[in-house]
Amino acid sequence: MRVDIISIFPDYFGPLELSLIGKARQTGRLDVAVHDLRTWTSDVHRTVDDTPYGGGPGMVMRPEPWGQALDAVGPGTLVVPSPVGKPFTQADAHELASLDRLIFACGRYEGIDQRVIDDAADRMPVREVSLGDYVLFGGEVAVIVIMEAIVRLLPGVLGNADSLTEESHAAGLLEAPVYTKPASWRSRDVPEILRSGDHGRIARWRRDQSLLRTASRRPDMMSVYPVDDLDKADRKT
Ligand code: SAM
Repeated sequence: MRVDIISIFPDYFGPLELSLIGKARQTGRLDVAVHDLRTWTSDVHRTVDDTPYGGGPGMVMRPEPWGQALDAVGPGTLVVPSPVGKPFTQADAHELASLDRLIFACGRYEGIDQRVIDDAADRMPVREVSLGDYVLFGGEVAVIVIMEAIVRLLPGVLGNADSLTEESHAAGLLEAPVYTKPASWRSRDVPEILRSGDHGRIARWRRDQSLLRTASRRPDMMSVYPVDDLDKADRKT
């Protein structure tokens, strides 16, 4: 997978050299290029913003540097983090992980001139995605989050691929609580069933915990969980 990231703060992306993303890059599974948007400015101050038409607070990112930047690095699927975007989900991560070429455009200030997104949409698929109902300073941290969600889905990146099928959001539920050694810590014991060696009972316990957790913490997820995916034992929880 090839990823191009355009930002006025390229230094933000140091973490993409660490851990499993760094390893995926070293092994050639992932190719990342970070571009400074100011490369595509032509004035001495390397200006990327201006006051908003119609008035109001803050500054808006000008279209010319963005247009040139996207012409230079495109085409690909353009991902624009934005609080007005569609909420980013695990399903989106899977879709993006199946693509060969992604471009991320990091907004700052009050965001990017809308014409940049409209113009790009004439030439390539564009997705505006939101990390949640809050506002960040800029798109850089959002891109790192989205990259983490995508890269761990690429074949061969995780040591044990089963992690991907047995985790939260893999099948519409939250994961059951997890424990490791020691068996007792600060008078708190690991549930006996997890130490029983009875894999059938352990699977049932995890399934029950998963349903209980999802129902209590994320009733929105439970309300859309397909009834056909519930078995007889589920209905007793
Ligand atoms: N004026 C914009 C609004 O009210 O919708 C907010 C702009 S925000 C200060 C600057 C940049 O941060 C955005 O262009 C976007 O790239 C990024 N950003 C902020 N909140 C975000 C969120 N919840 N999800 C994804 N990106 C976000």
